[in-house]
Amino acid sequence: MFCRIISRDAPASVVYQDDIVIAFLDIHPAAPTHILIVPIEHVPSMNQLSEEHTQLVGHMFLVAKQLAGQNGISDSGYRLIINSGPDANQTVFHLHLHLLGGGPMRFPMG
Ligand code: 5GP
Repeated sequence: MFCRIISRDAPASVVYQDDIVIAFLDIHPAAPTHILIVPIEHVPSMNQLSEEHTQLVGHMFLVAKQLAGQNGISDSGYRLIINSGPDANQTVFHLHLHLLGGGPMRFPMG
């Protein structure tokens, strides 16, 4: 599904793209700001990450930090989430980092 967004065969509100990641608005936002940071490389989940992805994962977090700033939530606060597997309710099997913010959030989420 996210591969079709990456190849521009499916629509998305893209807010950032470079050679390593694409970032777009979540179609069902769970917070006023809800952006998904997605590697161009198809990595299905956390479980397929290896040493070769070290730079990729670091880049995902730096892009998240940059997007937090551009969305004015650096100081008010934000949350970064990677869901992995059924207990975490992962629904899309293409690794992605959720950037959530724009209002208070509960924790733990249960
Ligand atoms: P997960 O539960 O796998 O961590 O999160 C998947 C996220 O992708 C969900 O928040 C869901 O709303 C979002 N999503 C699923 N399909 C699409 C889509 O086609 N476009 C966009 N922009 N977001 C999607």
